[in-house]
Amino acid sequence: MTTESVLEEWLHRCIRCSTCKYVFRQYSPSCPSGEFYRFESYWASGRLALGRGLKMNELDWSDDIAEALFTCTTCGSCEEQCQAPHARSIVKIIEEVREQYVQKVGPLPRHKAFADNVAEHHNPYGNTHHARGIVAECGLPTRADTAFFIGCTSNYRETSIRDAAISIMKKANVDFTVVDEHCCGSPLLRTGQTDSVLELAKHNLAQFEAAGCRRIVTACAGCYRTLTQEYPGLLGSFDIEIVHLSQMIKELIKDGSLSIESEFPGHFTYHDPCHLGRHGGVYEEPRDVMRLLRLDVSEMSLNRANAWCCGAGGGVRSAFRDMAESTARERIRQAETIGADHVITCCPFCVNNLTSSSDGEVDVSDLVEIVDRMSVANPRQRARESE
Ligand code: SF4
Ligand code: SF4
Repeated sequence: MTTESVLEEWLHRCIRCSTCKYVFRQYSPSCPSGEFYRFESYWASGRLALGRGLKMNELDWSDDIAEALFTCTTCGSCEEQCQAPHARSIVKIIEEVREQYVQKVGPLPRHKAFADNVAEHHNPYGNTHHARGIVAECGLPTRADTAFFIGCTSNYRETSIRDAAISIMKKANVDFTVVDEHCCGSPLLRTGQTDSVLELAKHNLAQFEAAGCRRIVTACAGCYRTLTQEYPGLLGSFDIEIVHLSQMIKELIKDGSLSIESEFPGHFTYHDPCHLGRHGGVYEEPRDVMRLLRLDVSEMSLNRANAWCCGAGGGVRSAFRDMAESTARERIRQAETIGADHVITCCPFCVNNLTSSSDGEVDVSDLVEIVDRMSVANPRQRARESE
């Protein structure tokens, strides 16, 4: 079924039962935008009604509908809670309606600004482009089996995550390089600005091929979703293995390539990034790594498929900062409720929003930062280096 026909089908199938508003059988709130705005159009059911009104020409494409349409973080929680057929299409439908909105009305100004940055600087932040320079800076080979896809938030905002990832792979003697990567296209895909995404995907694919890479590893949940789920469709085929760094780290610790030699005191909890968990199905490997690190970890009541979103995704942090920060503060509150003093996650964008939205009540780290701090190279590797 094409995206267009999925959209058609669903617009008439939502029965407005409101099951999507709450965690199924648990009855906790599930939708960050619905909870923030408290008006029907800001929940999934309202957005589907909005789409139906637009499709049937009962509503006009105008900026009156922009806020309801673009305050969805694309977290996918509604898809988990809705028990109707085709529930898995809700985010796709919202993104599809956004794409049509951009074509008919234009992008939101904040979204256009980061799209302009991607066009000019290859990253949404507008920083001077750099990536391949890291090869020389870090003494990496120019061709390798694995490409580390840094992602723009790690490379230009949360650089300690980039540095920790490189440090870990060097310690574990992974054969990897960094290519001249451009933005993966995720921020554009989530905000309806899809025109240039194919060009970005083609550029990145050409870089991976030129560097002889058969595997891509990324520490970013948004990049992971885009590379695994959108690139194959965009490019026709995309025959390169994609792994999230948490998955690689689990294997590196288990096969002895990384040794864990120190302790990290504290009471930890794990925040599932929406684009890694619900959209990517990666729930257990980060938790397995935390067990291998022997951290003291407790779960928040909303975890895995029912995790509360950090509030940053879908272009919300750039265009609706109040909602993004309020949603992040709620997640911090949930961590405090179970007595955690440290939240670990697996996405630089979640780290960025949770950190900047909190008053320092709890520490927030990416898993790779913790692993880098606690790990050393395998003793055999150290012995080889000292020869
Ligand atoms: S999206 Fe699903 S859960 Fe939500 S109102 Fe429609 S049918 Fe019910
Ligand atoms: S994807 Fe998330 S923010 Fe968007 S409607 Fe569904 S639950 Fe709400």
